[in-house]
Amino acid sequence: MPKRNDLEQKALHFVMNTGSAGVLQSDLWRELGASSREGSRIAIKLEEKGLIRREKELQDGRWTYRLFPKRVPASIDSIVDCPCLLCQDNARCDPTTPISPTNCPKLTDWILSLGKENPAPLGDSTLAQGLGPR
Ligand code: SF4
Repeated sequence: MPKRNDLEQKALHFVMNTGSAGVLQSDLWRELGASSREGSRIAIKLEEKGLIRREKELQDGRWTYRLFPKRVPASIDSIVDCPCLLCQDNARCDPTTPISPTNCPKLTDWILSLGKENPAPLGDSTLAQGLGPR
C-alpha cells in the first residue's frame, strides 16, 4: 500500500491535470489504488491546504465530490500570443526604464483580453473564478 504522502502527491498531480473538468473523487481513488476512506482523508487535507476545491455532485443517485485544482500549471499555449515574445523593444524593456511592462498598452491589452477568451488562461483558476485574494 502506498504511503499517504505519496498518495497525496499523486492525487494532487492527477487533479491538477484534470483542469476545469475536475475528477470524481471515486474515479481518482480507483486510479490511484487507494481506499475511499483513505481517499476522502487526502481530499480533505488537500482542500484544507488550499490546493483543491471539492464540489458536491450527485452521481447515480449518490452524493460524491468532484475535485478541482485551485491552480493549474501554465502552458506554452497560454502565452504564445503574448506581445512581448515578438516585441522589438523586448531587449530594452525594463520596469526601471521608460519602456516598461508597467505602462505598456500592448501588454495591458493582451492581459485584459485573456479573461474574455479563456476563464483560466494563465493557470490560476482561483483568480479566474473570483476566488482569489480580496
Ligand atoms: S511589455 Fe510591452 S514594451 Fe515590454 S516587451 Fe512586452 S510588449 Fe514590448
